[in-house]
Amino acid sequence: NWARFPFHKPIETFDINEQSAITERQLKQLREYQWIEQTYNIILLGPPGAGKTLLSVGLGIEAIEKGYQVYFVTMGELIQLLKTEEFINKSKIQLKRLRASDLIIIDDVMYMAMDQREATLFFQLIHQLYEQSSLILTSNRSPEEWTELVDNQGMMTAILDRLLHRVEVIHMNNESYRLKHQERIFN
Ligand code: ADP
Ligand code: MG
Repeated sequence: NWARFPFHKPIETFDINEQSAITERQLKQLREYQWIEQTYNIILLGPPGAGKTLLSVGLGIEAIEKGYQVYFVTMGELIQLLKTEEFINKSKIQLKRLRASDLIIIDDVMYMAMDQREATLFFQLIHQLYEQSSLILTSNRSPEEWTELVDNQGMMTAILDRLLHRVEVIHMNNESYRLKHQERIFN
């Protein structure tokens, strides 16, 4: 497979007892992968060290075992791939694989500000993937804060519109913020 995980720790290494913000039931539902069938997105929020990358890799590895095509990329790598797609063949190939995946994990979304061009490229990708692929996004900032990191706030609102339409937001380590207007899949 071409998932390009940063490490290979199976989901069993994720200790639910270390993570008071995730319930057994939530983890069970995540591991049933109905959300991929229904092209729902998962957003994992929490401070550095909360286990966001570990959980996303564990789910990604298990999703491959279930037969899904999975692609892992950090936000920084993704922006570089998008910026060089037109003239670097390797980027073109990686993005082709990414776009063909059932599940795309984007790690550390909005860790830094995006310029107008980067935001446009990211928006176009989200638009292409919308209701085609599932995403797991991890971030240590809430989606409300993502808007503050781009010049064109209208564009970020449009990106969020798509990302948050069919989403399960999981606050790891009891982050206090709350998202509004979610269409939830889990109960
Ligand atoms: P984040 O991506 O949120 O910054 P990581 O996934 O990199 O956090 O986790 C930080 C470290 O803590 C890693 O070594 C990871 O394996 C470990 N860790 C975090 N949460 C758990 C958990 N629930 N069970 C086992 N190890 C964990
Ligand atoms: Mg991480």
